[in-house]
Amino acid sequence: MKTVSSLLDAAWHERYRKISTLNIRSSIYDVTNRCNLRCKGCFFYSSNEHLVAEEMDPAKWKAFVRREKERGVNLAILIGGEPTLELDRVEIFYRTMPTYCATNGQIKVPRDRFPDMMVGISLWGNEEDEKKLRGKNTFAVSLNNYEGDPNAYYLYTITPNQVGRIEPVIRKIADGGLKVHMQLLTNDEEVEGFSWTDDKLAAIRVEMDAMLESYPQAVISCKYYHEVLTTGKMLGRSFGWSECPSVTESMDHRHPQPKRLIRFIRWASDLKTTHRCCTSATRDCSKCKDGAAHMSWVMVNKRGHLDSTRDLQNWIEVYEIFAKLYRFIPW
Ligand code: SF4
Ligand code: SF4
Repeated sequence: MKTVSSLLDAAWHERYRKISTLNIRSSIYDVTNRCNLRCKGCFFYSSNEHLVAEEMDPAKWKAFVRREKERGVNLAILIGGEPTLELDRVEIFYRTMPTYCATNGQIKVPRDRFPDMMVGISLWGNEEDEKKLRGKNTFAVSLNNYEGDPNAYYLYTITPNQVGRIEPVIRKIADGGLKVHMQLLTNDEEVEGFSWTDDKLAAIRVEMDAMLESYPQAVISCKYYHEVLTTGKMLGRSFGWSECPSVTESMDHRHPQPKRLIRFIRWASDLKTTHRCCTSATRDCSKCKDGAAHMSWVMVNKRGHLDSTRDLQNWIEVYEIFAKLYRFIPW
């Protein structure tokens, strides 16, 4: 292992300096159990994480969010269900701490109320796939709602069915003046034709790399992220339960304890129940393709990336992606 200074030139050292002081402490909150879509493969419903009694009292939400801030959380990641169905709850988070809102984009986050809140819009492919998996072409509506919005981006969940066909989707997003970040579908509900094979993973990696080169202004990504996500390997280790950093701290009894997100908890909307991790409580970890969990895996393993200049640059690039997507540094 070498030192950071010995591995980086001045320009890279400046990039490192900007992220090394961020100290991001995120947690995830289910804002509501309800959604205005019912996507096939939605981990929230497929793992029955919606079966808690939603807290309805705004005063309890306010007190809860205050406690979370006191616990040291400095990034609230709001998911659901669909958070825009409960904008008063979203506003409680937004007024208390840096907040990111995941949405399917069908209801516009009012910018007079949330001027600079980062919004991540889910997208599962082209029109045909969206209709098949989500019941409608969500893209047309979400693009109309967010075109040109500097604080919004598409979180494009690529399905195996999309291999060879992602360029038109990326182009439409770029033409709409928006950014895009890519992750991969985990087929939690075993929808036929939507499971990954090694060949398809290898092919999509090449395609994701090509998108980064063709649309560098729009695509928020790096080749190392593509490598880690598609191969499930980092520094010769395999992603999965024994390595995952995104496990709720109070439910994490793994021995040995891997490097993990400090103070990370995923809360249900009853404000009492916690879920196992950042995604499905019932998912087979060996098949998990969650993009944020893979990025976090890299981020918490800085020491492992101190063997060479390229390793450390890879680590910096992944950290920068995460920091951009959650508005800690500019695009
Ligand atoms: S929009 Fe999101 S929360 Fe709603 S059903 Fe689809 S994947 Fe699930
Ligand atoms: S399902 Fe994914 S995010 Fe959840 S614990 Fe397993 S590997 Fe981690």
